[in-house]
Amino acid sequence: ALLGGVASMALTLSACGQSTEAGSEDSSESGTVGIAMPTRASERWLTDGKSVVENLKGMGYKSTLVYGDDDPKVQSSQIETLVKQGVDALIIAAIDAKSLNGVLQQAADADIPVISYDRLILGTKNVDYYVSFDNEMVGRQEARHIIEKLGLEDGKGGPFTIELFAGSPDDNNTKYFFDGSMALLEPFLESKQLIVQSGETELDKITTLRWDGPTAEKRMSDLLTEWYSDQTVDAVLSPYDGISRGVLSALKSDGYGTDGKPLPIVTGQDAELDSVKSIIAGEQSQTVFKDIRELARAATELVDDILTGRIPNVDNRRDYNNGVKDVPVHLLQPESVDKTNYEMLISNRYYTAEQLK
Ligand code: BGC
Repeated sequence: ALLGGVASMALTLSACGQSTEAGSEDSSESGTVGIAMPTRASERWLTDGKSVVENLKGMGYKSTLVYGDDDPKVQSSQIETLVKQGVDALIIAAIDAKSLNGVLQQAADADIPVISYDRLILGTKNVDYYVSFDNEMVGRQEARHIIEKLGLEDGKGGPFTIELFAGSPDDNNTKYFFDGSMALLEPFLESKQLIVQSGETELDKITTLRWDGPTAEKRMSDLLTEWYSDQTVDAVLSPYDGISRGVLSALKSDGYGTDGKPLPIVTGQDAELDSVKSIIAGEQSQTVFKDIRELARAATELVDDILTGRIPNVDNRRDYNNGVKDVPVHLLQPESVDKTNYEMLISNRYYTAEQLK
């Protein structure tokens, strides 16, 4: 599936016309990598796309980047197009973990290796490697922040009220985030030092389809109306900055953040610019920083290893089972960020000081 040195073929367009041409003319020998990202609606995935493309370019590959606009059917047909175009490898961050079996069979038939990017693709043997962050650790860091901020210790402190939000039910990461958080929160729920006033503690009650901020805003607003008319909520577990901003917006509409009614502790994930600013302004309380540049590098190195016949750098101590096979994994470490340490995002050049003003 190599492009064979035809510079004019460098521009590969997908059926949906959302792709970005990338790569340089002198790179045509190395091949082309198809990159399927889930959505342009969240900042992190734009950074992912850009970083993967840049890394591939640096390694001499061309790439075709497509965004699925949070629609599993769109993503599936985009990948089908990439397979037909004859890409040499696929890097995929799935929208729906379970809806890619058919198209990945086509990729396997065409001998195209597949990297599951950030989110594990489930239910198919046609996934070669998985690169991600320690997703359970993400959930733990959010819960630890809440516990520390409330000053909870074994048998000491509380009771405090809390509400729980989770990510999209079709994203395999959602369960890891939730389980990680609950591992730390559960003892305090049992001892009643933490009380979920709504009683909604089961994952299927608290998910947020496609991680949608307005959906979370609506749920928070309903929770406040139904359960918090004569008391305040002290903490909200949120697994993603877009959800956190929705939650904060509902809280502010309800009078939180004014004198006598402080905002609860609200966690998050991805260190999105608006959320880091919100942390600096004392609104959102925490986020989890996952250095996307590192993830992109890990993914592109895997692709390069596979295509050049080197042994890929994976963690030998663990695999992630996707229901059909153990997928070799390369896992990176997330970091908790709050008002006390957000400057690390400037020193590691994720943001400029100017951007955070
Ligand atoms: C990612 C998170 C992200 C979320 C929503 C998850 O699969 O791991 O970093 O916040 O999707 O885009």
